[in-house]
Amino acid sequence: MTNTLVKNFIGGEWVAARSGETFESTNPATEELVAPISKSGAEDVNAAVQAAKDAYKNWRLTPAPRRGEILYRVAHLLTERKEEIARLMTQEMGKVISEARGDVQEAIDMAYYMGGEGRRLMGYTAPVEMPNKFGMAIRDSVGVIGLITPWNFPVAVPSWKMLPALISGNTIVFKPGEDTPPGEDTPAVAAEFVRVFADAGLPAGVLNLVTGAGETGSALVENRDVRVISFTGSTQTGLSVYSKAAALGKKVTLEMGGKNAIIVLDDANLDLAAEAITWSAFGTTGQRCTATSRLIVQKGIKPKLIEALVEKAKLLKLGNGLDESVTMGPLVNQKALDKVVRYMDVAKSEGVKILVGGERADLGKGYFFQPTLFDGVKQGMRVEQEEIFGPVLSVIEVESFEEAIHVNNSTAYGLSSSIFTENVNAAFRAIRDLTTGIVYINHGTTGAEIQFPFGGTRGTGNGMREAGQTALDSFTEWKSVYVDFSGRLQRAQIDTDKILGEN
Ligand code: ADP
Repeated sequence: MTNTLVKNFIGGEWVAARSGETFESTNPATEELVAPISKSGAEDVNAAVQAAKDAYKNWRLTPAPRRGEILYRVAHLLTERKEEIARLMTQEMGKVISEARGDVQEAIDMAYYMGGEGRRLMGYTAPVEMPNKFGMAIRDSVGVIGLITPWNFPVAVPSWKMLPALISGNTIVFKPGEDTPPGEDTPAVAAEFVRVFADAGLPAGVLNLVTGAGETGSALVENRDVRVISFTGSTQTGLSVYSKAAALGKKVTLEMGGKNAIIVLDDANLDLAAEAITWSAFGTTGQRCTATSRLIVQKGIKPKLIEALVEKAKLLKLGNGLDESVTMGPLVNQKALDKVVRYMDVAKSEGVKILVGGERADLGKGYFFQPTLFDGVKQGMRVEQEEIFGPVLSVIEVESFEEAIHVNNSTAYGLSSSIFTENVNAAFRAIRDLTTGIVYINHGTTGAEIQFPFGGTRGTGNGMREAGQTALDSFTEWKSVYVDFSGRLQRAQIDTDKILGEN
């Protein structure tokens, strides 16, 4: 617990918001104060953007392999501070400590991966039409990048954006997730993450932090010197950011909602499926972008699978995630809890049967909700279509493989999906026909690795992808370069016939 004010990091200095205003970050398991946080306004955002703009002049000219060495130091320091940062994360947003460690590990992996990119950042050459002429396409930095992130992966998600943006030669203003009021979310851990970059030797102004609410993010979107916005959060906010940024001609990467499903066919390995579904539906208290909220199950295997899932849900131990024996933490805040509670009424009004859970879990303090299974859910119901973002799994019975694929693909979102089957032909047909950005075979819907593209189709995104090589597309511009060493004017598309045979 820090209890000292979390400040902004602007131009290499830790500074309070200019207005002097603050809000509180609290622990969702205990409702105790984690730290007071600076509540930034447009003047703080604009100062941070100016610092980033100034730092860009040198950072873009720093050789990429040197930039990569700083990222390797980030990886080393994060490894050293992994436990400390993970504990702060659990206190601030509630995920169990083993998952918080995994969250930091993703940033470590990404720092090594993007550090290596410092010696790649591959462009290409191609043959050209004229003699004595050379052509190449290179990736160029863009300038100041604005990052707006949510609270559910407070280190991993910012790392997916920061590390590719930095290795490409850009500078950053980072606005981490929180909600005000009441503001229980993750700015304190974001500040500790930024401190790692400063301690690793990143020059002043290259990475700036401004903490605050929606208005702070909005000021970042509206600042004309910010050329790219990379956003992860709700669909509603993401689309509003998208339209504002589009009006200013900015490039935007969006990672938004999901309604992920696991399909289980009659021939599946039942024990494996039950374990994976439990992990995917109730891990991070159902608050992952890739959390499974729909189980699409073939009729034959359904009774046994449901029985196994109810049993597993009952065995989950709710509590403070710092206790190593706890397997499910609280929801992030009162607002998130209220939303899940409201969906219980929606489920009842839709005639859904609650097999297990369905109520708040009373642990004295904190925003706990019981792991919940809905049965008798039909394709098209609200609980089947809308993102609840809590430990709630809707079970939809289907007759056939074709019906399962149809149900999976019939939502407004398209992040991830999974199928459990021992039939290799069914698995490959699923890879072909599932229309999500990520597809798993015999694995839950969570477990993406940083070297592959991450993102979704339909309402989940706008066609961009994070992670992997594709992450570089968000943070670079292509520059095509033609070098003519003929010593005379050669006119492309015009002179080609004339010069055949000449040299
Ligand atoms: P979540 O449901 O994950 O909290 P939000 O979409 O509300 O998702 O928030 C994601 C991020 O977007 C947070 O950092 C939040 O402060 C920020 N944000 C909220 N409203 C706006 C806005 N109008 N413009 C820019 N950023 C915003």
